[in-house]
Amino acid sequence: MSDTPTIAVVGSGPIGAAYARVLLESLPQARVIMFEAGPPVTERPGESVRNIADPDEKARARERSQGPQAGEFRDSLGIPSGTIVEGMFTARQGTHLLDFGGAGSAHAPSFPAAAAATNVGGQGAHWTCAIPRPAFSEKLDFIPDDEWEDLISTAEDLLHKQSAAFSDSPVGAAIRTLLDREFGAELPEGFGVSTLPVAGDPQPDGTMRWAGTDTVLGPLIEPGTDTAGRFELRDLSLVRRIDHDGARVRGVVVEDLRTHEEAFVPADAVVVAADAFRSPQLLWASGIRPAPLGRYLTEHHVVIGTVVLDGERMSELVSDAELQAELDRRALNPADPVAAVNRIPFSEPDHPYSAQIMYAETPPFPLDPAHPAAGNRWGYINMGFGVRKFPRVEDGATFSDDELDYRGLPNFTIEYALTEREDAEIAEATERLRRAGAALGSFIAEPRLLPNGSSLHFMGTMRAGTDPATSVADPYSHVWGFENLFVGGNGLIPTANTMNPTLTSVAIAVRGARRLAEELAAS
Ligand code: FAD
Repeated sequence: MSDTPTIAVVGSGPIGAAYARVLLESLPQARVIMFEAGPPVTERPGESVRNIADPDEKARARERSQGPQAGEFRDSLGIPSGTIVEGMFTARQGTHLLDFGGAGSAHAPSFPAAAAATNVGGQGAHWTCAIPRPAFSEKLDFIPDDEWEDLISTAEDLLHKQSAAFSDSPVGAAIRTLLDREFGAELPEGFGVSTLPVAGDPQPDGTMRWAGTDTVLGPLIEPGTDTAGRFELRDLSLVRRIDHDGARVRGVVVEDLRTHEEAFVPADAVVVAADAFRSPQLLWASGIRPAPLGRYLTEHHVVIGTVVLDGERMSELVSDAELQAELDRRALNPADPVAAVNRIPFSEPDHPYSAQIMYAETPPFPLDPAHPAAGNRWGYINMGFGVRKFPRVEDGATFSDDELDYRGLPNFTIEYALTEREDAEIAEATERLRRAGAALGSFIAEPRLLPNGSSLHFMGTMRAGTDPATSVADPYSHVWGFENLFVGGNGLIPTANTMNPTLTSVAIAVRGARRLAEELAAS
């Protein structure tokens, strides 16, 4: 290995960014080349598109991230024309369905809402920025508690955790009071109704600048810093293969999607952080095929509903003047409709659900002006209860050697099913959602279970663990059997998890990056 080790990072989402940051800050001689299949969509690499004030510009940034469903931008993104882009479901803006129904589409009838983002910053340019910590059985049992505390705090710093976001909102506080009256007595100490930690920087005018992948990259994208000089981000660069000898990787084969030329880029180590489906896909394409690859797929299922706040109950807790002051403050940033985020966290044994309770001035869907709840001055609540999926080897992606996807990589089929265990918890979560709704007001959209894949939090497909028979990565995120190949992302989470996983995945990435830095320094 040379004195100036080069690390290739595949994927420019928050996890690739965390590896790049920790490696460059730990190793003063190292270089990182980050490859991203998608285009840049913001001036500052990986910035949250939620920070874009102009609605047209925001819509353009989102559409350009939508890979095969990127409409008129498709050709400029190196995607073959002729790809059919209509699916049964509509993906959330900024993402594209994996099973979009056309030529080169993945096959996922049992996981139909699964989607991904293809752009600089990955899904980290589109996310909602909720960063709760895992708790109880959601935690990884092979990381000692004191080390975990350090890893998760480092991850919170990288993401600019803000636990007090909207805590000064009197409406938000009243919502917590009403929920606490309903649920408080059932919840253990420390796991009661609270504000949801989010990633971002509160601005002096009370609005938020939401954290994107740019936040994690930090100094790497600040001109003139030492680390910026050693960091290179190549967009529209699709990694097609990892070159290796079965125990060590030598580099990556990359296609420039502007010219369609392929080149070999040598590297001393490779980190694959290309999301929970496309990372295992790349490993498979490279002939790295441990049995658990792509299997043990989980997400957290989501039961959601929308409520109009009850004016009488709210006005007992919030004065007219306080409400007006809050509405005036909100009017400063009309492009960002969320006004407060509360939660009931996961706890065991009695509340194995993560409830996310978002307060906004407008409902998340158009409401007929004639509807009695239209124009409610107190606003609306959009709530979701996250329900866990217990890992099973039967659930997951199977890759094909015979069929290619729209990018020419091995196509895949997702098999997935809920069992009685999940059905029972979904029924229970629906009941609790009804109780939460009744405590706050009345439903304008009844509780319903979203289709499989809707959470966008896909886990387990490259699980980290201590047993190579049931995991793809070891406890430090090396792919088993490889010295210098690391994987990162939600796919590493092996537990049945109910909450937003990015913070956990960044913490796991920090552990892997520290270990890789030590190994590179030692060699
Ligand atoms: P990604 O961010 O998905 O990035 C992977 C990147 O790899 C992509 O840009 C992709 O184009 C690139 N890539 C793939 N294959 C290749 C290849 N072969 N060559 C080169 N590049 C490749 N999580 C939370 O914790 N809290 C939330 O509130 C939350 N809200 C969300 C809301 C939305 C609308 C979305 C879309 C996601 C949300 N998430 C949330 C999920 C969160 O964004 C992801 O957990 C996180 O971005 C995962 O980071 P990652 O780096 O592993 O992958």
